Amino acid sequence: MPPKKRPAAQSASGPHTAKRPAAAIKRPAGHQAACPHSVSNFSEALVERLDLQLKVDFDRQVLAGECQLTVRSLQPVDHVILDVLDLEVQEVTKEDGTAVQWKVQKPPGAKANFGQSLTIDLDAEVTKVCVKYETTEKSTALQWLRKEQTQGKEFPLCFTQSQAICGRSLLPCQDTPSVKAPFTIALTVPAALTAVASGNPSGDVVTQGDSRTFKYEQNVPVMSYLIGFVVARLESCRIGPRSTCYAEPGVLQAAQKEFQDIVEEFIITAQEVVGGADYEWGSYNVAVMPSSFAYGGMENPNCTFMSASLIPGDRSLTPTLAHEIVHSWIGNLVTNAFWKDFWLNEGFTRYIERRVLGKLYGPAFRGLLLMVGYNDLVKAVEMLTKQGTPGLTRLEPQIDEIDPDDAFSRVPYEKGSLFLIYLEQIVGGEQAMTDWLRSYVQEFRGRSIETADFKAHFLKFFRTVKRVNEVDWEHWLHGEGLPDFDLSAHADKSLLDECRSLADSWLQSGSADVETGHMKAQQWMLFLDHLINAVVGGKQISEPALAEMDGKYKFSATANVEVSFRWCLLGCRCRWRGCLDLTAKFLASHGRGVYVKPLYLALKDFDEERARSIFQQNRSFYMSVVTRQVAAFLDK
Ligand SMILES: [Zn+2]
Repeated sequence: MPPKKRPAAQSASGPHTAKRPAAAIKRPAGHQAACPHSVSNFSEALVERLDLQLKVDFDRQVLAGECQLTVRSLQPVDHVILDVLDLEVQEVTKEDGTAVQWKVQKPPGAKANFGQSLTIDLDAEVTKVCVKYETTEKSTALQWLRKEQTQGKEFPLCFTQSQAICGRSLLPCQDTPSVKAPFTIALTVPAALTAVASGNPSGDVVTQGDSRTFKYEQNVPVMSYLIGFVVARLESCRIGPRSTCYAEPGVLQAAQKEFQDIVEEFIITAQEVVGGADYEWGSYNVAVMPSSFAYGGMENPNCTFMSASLIPGDRSLTPTLAHEIVHSWIGNLVTNAFWKDFWLNEGFTRYIERRVLGKLYGPAFRGLLLMVGYNDLVKAVEMLTKQGTPGLTRLEPQIDEIDPDDAFSRVPYEKGSLFLIYLEQIVGGEQAMTDWLRSYVQEFRGRSIETADFKAHFLKFFRTVKRVNEVDWEHWLHGEGLPDFDLSAHADKSLLDECRSLADSWLQSGSADVETGHMKAQQWMLFLDHLINAVVGGKQISEPALAEMDGKYKFSATANVEVSFRWCLLGCRCRWRGCLDLTAKFLASHGRGVYVKPLYLALKDFDEERARSIFQQNRSFYMSVVTRQVAAFLDK
């Protein structure tokens, strides 16, 4: 639809004369000037608040409604530029209903790959504009599941995933982590369904005819990527004093058993590790997502999304819950300013998550998790190098011209966490890091920062610690591949030796005869990681040995998705045809990108035709972000 003509009365929009506040985002020299993944002019005109009213239309698979934006001009500009992607903008009006001029354009250069710009005229320092729009079938933030694809198979389901830059396909916004704003959202959904959004409930649920409207508000300013919701046949139960779990009825009991009480233990312990900084969000709730969810969890405030794949029944995968809880401080409060700084969100969160688990379950368990993480890093570095993108193994990579989702890997998580482990031993241990984290969160809460800000803060805080001069910042921040740091010299290895020697026994003699009933899930992950690394390094494991291993340890029957993933990966790497059916079943049941991508890559090397046929059968099951990335190397 072409832009509306501006009514004559509004055409005289002269230069602004009112006194302006200082620009919200001032960056010193050495910092990046603007967000390469957003067209918005947020340092000139800033969205201060968002109020959304949307109808969730399952028949047409679109959201229809309006987004009211409160915009403050920070510079003498007479317009605001927003990000949009495949939205059908219908009308833009002021608060009083008068039409405002607007236009949607394709931006120049690389930004054209990330969406369009919506330019809206402004005629006052603070303006409320209301954008009437609909999403389209191309909206990448939305995932629509037909009822057959849900656990209960009776009702459809819809959820959003906006990180990294999909928020613009959900609503017109300044879609950069540099901009934070409070928001409200009213969702009108079929009466049988429930909407849970990333805020606290506000007001009663209103039933009208065959639909219900749920209202949520988020008063802590957040980035556009944290605006999210799930609509489904959901039931709820309490899992802690400030925590509710939402899930499809058939999954609720298992979820409650998995998360009950542990959630509060994690919140309290995380708060201790960050030096006592307040939990600012009120409630902490969990919504269980279908196993096609592309991530393990997503830290939507007041409503962590958690993949149903991570409920094995024995709490062995609750480290992900600890991870999402830590995001309540890191990521959601102290945020990466740009996507090149993603490790400030994820590396920090990973580091603190393992501190939390170490505090609760002991240093040996922390050491075990650190080694599992290190092996994940080894695998990620190998994959990225093999696919010809070694630049993505940097902690602060240059990704201005690529979609941050395409740069996504375990590197920002594990290399970032490893860097903080290294710094921990430089500054003298856990307590020193906690003292620093308290200051870091206090200084940067509510802000979006770059890697340079972290570095400056760290150097200032530890200015009297001599060993800080040893830190090779360039090597850690911009070096490629694995960093020069021997983790095993600094991690508690008491739980490691057992699984390592078990793996060595299999590698040397093709069998092992030791009692393993007490081994933890993470030890099995490490055991399999050792074997995978050995095979990548040229060692061979025979087919009878693999079959015997499966007979002994029942890997094919495990409910633990992390163990199952590694078992399938090992089988593919060993070119063992006996693993193909299990791998096909795994790929039809789990849609998390960190499993799906490496498995298809390994399968492609082993049996390309089978890889393609499995992908064809499942491509509509995965979220678009995963489908796109797998298609990039399988659709040829
Ligand atoms: Zn995370």
